[in-house]
Amino acid sequence: MLEFDYQKPETLDELIHTLGQDGSCIIAGGTDVIPRMRHNLIQATTVVDISRLTELSFIQQDQNQIRIGALTTHQALVDSSLVQTTNPALTSAAASVGCRQTRHRGTLGGNIGNASPAADTIPALLVFDAQVYLLGEAGKRQIGLVDFILGPGKTQLYAGEIIHSISYAPFDGAWGAAFQKLGKRNGMAIAVVSAAAAIQLDGQGHVREARLALGSVAPTVVRSPKAEAILLGQVPTPEVLKRAADAVSADISPISDIRSSAAYRQHAAKILANRALTVAFEQTRGKLS
Ligand SMILES: Cc1cc2nc3c(=O)[nH]c(=O)nc-3n(C[C@H](O)[C@H](O)[C@H](O)COP(=O)(O)OP(=O)(O)OC[C@H]3O[C@@H](n4cnc5c(N)ncnc54)[C@H](O)[C@@H]3O)c2cc1C
Repeated sequence: MLEFDYQKPETLDELIHTLGQDGSCIIAGGTDVIPRMRHNLIQATTVVDISRLTELSFIQQDQNQIRIGALTTHQALVDSSLVQTTNPALTSAAASVGCRQTRHRGTLGGNIGNASPAADTIPALLVFDAQVYLLGEAGKRQIGLVDFILGPGKTQLYAGEIIHSISYAPFDGAWGAAFQKLGKRNGMAIAVVSAAAAIQLDGQGHVREARLALGSVAPTVVRSPKAEAILLGQVPTPEVLKRAADAVSADISPISDIRSSAAYRQHAAKILANRALTVAFEQTRGKLS
C-alpha cells in the first residue's frame, strides 16, 4: 500500500510553499499520475493536488498572445471558440485525447508535464512556437516549449516550480493549422504517430511560414526543419506538400514498441505529415486578400 502526505492548497502562495518540500509530486487531473502510482512508477512522500486552484484554469487573449492556464482541461480547449479560431490544430488534438472522462479531468499542464513523445497537445503547440510560463519560490520564468521538454517524462521544471500557463501568438492573413493522429483505434488510443502543421501564405500565395511537428517518432515531439525548408517560398501544390512530407524521414528516429514497429512509424509519419499539411493548406483558401 502506498503511503504519502496529501496536500490540497487553496492559493498559489500556499502551493509554492508546499512544493518547497522535498519529494513532492504535483497532481492535477491525475490521469497520468494515478496509473503511474498504481504501477509504483512514482514514489512521492507528498502528493500536492492543485485541482482547487481555479485561477490556473483560463483561456484568454493578452494583446497578440493567447494564454492558457495549466489547469485548463482538454474539454475546455475543445469547447473554446478562441482556441478554435486561433489554433484549430489544438482543438483537434485536445478532442483526440482519451475519452470524454479523460478530457474532462486531464489538463493541458499535465499533458505537457508528463512530457510524453505521444502527448497530443504538444505538436499542436510546437507549430505555434508556444512558450511555457513557470512559477516557483524564485519567481516566474518563461521558456520555449521546444526547450522545456528534454525527453520522455523529463522537463526543465525545477523542484518547487509549477507550470503556470502556456501561450502562443496567433497567425494573421492566409493561414491554416491542422492535427492528425494515428492510433490503434479511433478512440481511447495513444498516438502511434501524430502530426501537426501550420502554414501561412504571403499575398502571392507562396508559403511565408511553414511549421510541421511529429509525435511518437522520437524521444520528444520534434519539428521537421527539412520539410519546413522545402515549403518556404513555394506555392503549396500537392506535389510540393508530398515532397515536404516525405522529407520528415530525415528528422525522426522512431523506435519499435508495443504499439508499432519503427519501419511502420517511418511510413506513417510521411502520410500523416502530408494529411496535416494538406488540411492546413485547405484552410488558407479564401483567406488571400
Ligand atoms: C484512459 C486514458 C487515456 C489517455 N489518452 C490520451 C491520449 O489519447 N492522448 C494524450 O496525449 N494523453 C492521453 N492520456 C494521458 C493523460 O490523460 C494526459 O496526459 C493528460 O493531459 C494529463 O493531465 P492530468 O491533469 O491528468 O495530469 P496529471 O496526471 O495530474 O499529471 C501529469 C504529470 O504532469 C505533472 N503536472 C501536472 N500539472 C502540472 C503543473 N501545473 N505544473 C507542473 N507539473 C504538472 C504531474 O506532476 C505529472 O508528472 C490518457 C490517459 C488515460 C488514463
